[in-house]
Amino acid sequence: MRHLSFLVIALFALGCAPMSGFWMRNQEVHIPTVNNNVCKRLDKSVVLYAVFVDSEATNPWTTHDIESTLDSIRVAMQWVEGQAQDRCIPLNIEQDYHRTEKGVVPIEAKFTRKTLRATLSSGSGVKNVDRWADKIGREVLKTFPKDTAQITKTEIKPKDRERLIARIRDDHKVDQVALMYFINNYYSQEISVAMHTGSHEDPEYAIVSYKEPAVVAHEFLHLFGALDLYMSPFNTRKNDLKRKAFAMKKFPDEIMAFAYRNLDSLSISPFTEYLIGWDNSLDEEYVKMITNKKIKVAKY
Ligand SMILES: [Zn+2]
Repeated sequence: MRHLSFLVIALFALGCAPMSGFWMRNQEVHIPTVNNNVCKRLDKSVVLYAVFVDSEATNPWTTHDIESTLDSIRVAMQWVEGQAQDRCIPLNIEQDYHRTEKGVVPIEAKFTRKTLRATLSSGSGVKNVDRWADKIGREVLKTFPKDTAQITKTEIKPKDRERLIARIRDDHKVDQVALMYFINNYYSQEISVAMHTGSHEDPEYAIVSYKEPAVVAHEFLHLFGALDLYMSPFNTRKNDLKRKAFAMKKFPDEIMAFAYRNLDSLSISPFTEYLIGWDNSLDEEYVKMITNKKIKVAKY
């Protein structure tokens, strides 16, 4: 259930990671955000692959909506690259998106409970959202030219979104693929989520509901290990609230705390730098944003 505990963090903005999400080596605690899963560390070459999805309760994607979302993705990734450049981190983000010879044809896939929010809050929510993501992966793969290298005789059947990630990796000759599904919720209340970000088994992916560049950048950073630092209605535990309050005060322009502001006014804090692999050590002062326990956090 390790992946679930971390999913919960990414989802519901819990600054405190349950200890089960960590592992110990040489008395050091490893937070599974760096050197783990598909998006290991935000550096060198990365592909952001966007898939436009029409679902029952969302607005159908119009050409204008798609164009402006692609613009937002460009702005968001320029910002992320700029942040990397300021810190002398080599980073090149290639942007690609699903399209056919007819242009962008959104994939149709319904959530089991109409909206993403309702589906995730219901029993087996994670499983059902994963199924939704797999179905889309399958549909996207169908539109790709046949790839003979895909034929294997292995008994292990990868999930469809894993096959999609493998295919994007092959096509782009890049290991790190940030898979992002976009649903068109501009006018309604919906959530954006990053799934399986600390998992050792399930590849991570994000579902983005809004097209603001800051939201796109925020979810993209989740895929590389960043944790939420804002207070949400889901935070009810006193310790969570204390940690979030500390983070919001300490880092007044942190993107993981204030995703609904203008991107130009935001930055990446030392805490997030550590989680995404831009800094190899975490200041002791910030360890309490993860846990109250006295721990030694690993250097990467
Ligand atoms: Zn978030």
